[in-house]
Amino acid sequence: MKKYLPIYHAKPSPCYTSDHLKNPGCPARNDIPRFLFAMSNDDFETAFHVLKKTNPFSGGCGRFCDHPCETSCNREKFDTPVDIMALERVAADFGFDRGILPETIPDTTGKRVAVVGAGAAGLTSAFFLKRLGHSVTVFEAERKAGGLMRFGIPRYRYPDDIASYEIEYISRSGVRIELSSRITDSDLPRLASDFDALIIATGALKERNMGIPGDDLPGIWKGVSFLKEINLSSEMESGKIEELSGRIDTGRRVAVIGGGYTAFDVARSAVRLGSEATVYYRRTPSQMTAHPGEIEEAGSEGIGFVFLSIPVSVEKNGDGSLRMTFQRAKLGPPDESGRERPVPLEGQYFAVEADRIITAIGESSTLGDLVPGGKPEGNRVAGDPGNPTLTERLFLSGDVRSGFASNIGMIVEAIGSGQDTAIDVHRFLTGQQLSIGSDREIAYYSTMKVRYFEELSRARLTRIPLVDRHLNFRETTLPLSREVAVEMAKRCFFCGICTQCDWCYDYGRGAIAKLMVPWNPHEDAHFFKFIRELVTDKTKEAVWACPRNTMDVVPEEERWEAIIEDQYI
Ligand SMILES: Cc1cc2nc3c(=O)[nH]c(=O)nc-3n(C[C@H](O)[C@H](O)[C@H](O)COP(=O)(O)OP(=O)(O)OC[C@H]3O[C@@H](n4cnc5c(N)ncnc54)[C@H](O)[C@@H]3O)c2cc1C
Ligand code: SF4
Ligand code: SF4
Repeated sequence: MKKYLPIYHAKPSPCYTSDHLKNPGCPARNDIPRFLFAMSNDDFETAFHVLKKTNPFSGGCGRFCDHPCETSCNREKFDTPVDIMALERVAADFGFDRGILPETIPDTTGKRVAVVGAGAAGLTSAFFLKRLGHSVTVFEAERKAGGLMRFGIPRYRYPDDIASYEIEYISRSGVRIELSSRITDSDLPRLASDFDALIIATGALKERNMGIPGDDLPGIWKGVSFLKEINLSSEMESGKIEELSGRIDTGRRVAVIGGGYTAFDVARSAVRLGSEATVYYRRTPSQMTAHPGEIEEAGSEGIGFVFLSIPVSVEKNGDGSLRMTFQRAKLGPPDESGRERPVPLEGQYFAVEADRIITAIGESSTLGDLVPGGKPEGNRVAGDPGNPTLTERLFLSGDVRSGFASNIGMIVEAIGSGQDTAIDVHRFLTGQQLSIGSDREIAYYSTMKVRYFEELSRARLTRIPLVDRHLNFRETTLPLSREVAVEMAKRCFFCGICTQCDWCYDYGRGAIAKLMVPWNPHEDAHFFKFIRELVTDKTKEAVWACPRNTMDVVPEEERWEAIIEDQYI
């Protein structure tokens, strides 16, 4: 009869991995169960380092990420998902509070890489390439690094001291960042000959016009430019928000056009500068691309919403204010974005009065500024930039690629894209193929023994009072306390990894021997050894007993010698 042997076989959790079933795990590939396990043991320093292995912007992602990881958390099917994002913030802020910085990594490969654009994608590529031993220089047009994370997202969502620390962590590792260095298409041939590889990560920053009569009137502003003006201002730097509100005169009534991140950041910033804001959107709330939490927060700050309204024209009133006409709409069949298309309703118009109109209707790729006529093809550029060295050495990362096909994506996707580009560039420079992620079977909910776990609510996030959001950009969401963070981390099932819970030992007594090894966050650790002569039904019970699917059985004749040798006595 065929004999089966048990083995430990850690699996990726659904929150952490993407797979062929399009499970939307963390695009930055954060090792979620391992960072949460460290936190559940009150070991915040290990949690901080586990996160830094994959994500240089955990402090940011713990605040502004769309957290697709929580949508795929196994606990969602049990009671509610683990508070992964809020816990990521606590772990990242542990490093910030203690000023943890890395050692400088030496240049070991003799290869030089230039990155154009210090946003999430460019800086992530730079961070990983530095860790692989390359010499990396980032050229950034603005006087501060961080891209849209820094000049798009307002400080009440991502405080500047946290952003500065995350960027310092990257530069301390040895990445050179040259600020106020705008690269043009004529600089590219020189960069291509000075460096062995060149990454363009200049984002999707080209703002669109509404394309309606009157959309170039004074008083009509563009969303990202407006946010940049605020976020990079000297008044913001010195905390003089009243002076800022005097200089950037948003008037009393601000009409914001759009339904994505930019629309909400614009409206909430305008309110903080003392204006009333209303968001006009051509579809309905469920088609908005901003995260539902943003919509709720904006509503609580008194921002109004008018849906199913298509801008038609703008006129200037005698007193200098603006009158904008909209056509009412209904939802029709889906468009290329997969969302239901707004269909104008004939003869149904209305007009609104506003002092400023700020458009937030999407941005597109900046690639054409550097490679005229170039189009993304994976991480490469299709279309010959007319110089073979440049063609060969040129790579892309982040929204500069995706901003072609659709509107800009999520920051965590730009981080994942930065990792992918770093791997491609490393292969190009050294011929070495690195693998990230895992193609192992995923520890899905159906494979968890949920009877071992207890129902327990998620944490309730606390926000600062509404009165404290006027004429200041203080962070609105407060962090979880250390005690609550430990309790919330314990809610994690730790899907697919052995946590030394001892259930298998208890069930497999006689066929499994205890072996005390320290828990290692980065390894497929196993803490027990099987006794080969005693592989019986008891051993199978040990496999069956594991709450988190960390063991398999394999036919004895299969080629598992190395593993079996390691896991058996
Ligand atoms: C207002 C706003 C709010 C957002 N909020 C969220 C959010 O809450 N959560 C989320 O997940 N996503 C959010 N997004 C989307 C997210 O910001 C982007 O997907 C992400 O930042 C893209 O990163 P990137 O590195 O590709 O590009 P960017 O962040 O755009 O970085 C590009 C960098 O390149 C620089 N650059 C451009 N041209 C040149 C040049 N010629 N020479 C040198 N440097 C150059 C730019 O100055 C910039 O620093 C938001 C977007 C906007 C506009
Ligand atoms: S970066 Fe975003 S998706 Fe990844 S673990 Fe953090 S919150 Fe989840
Ligand atoms: S329970 Fe923990 S390991 Fe499992 S999917 Fe959720 S966060 Fe990930």
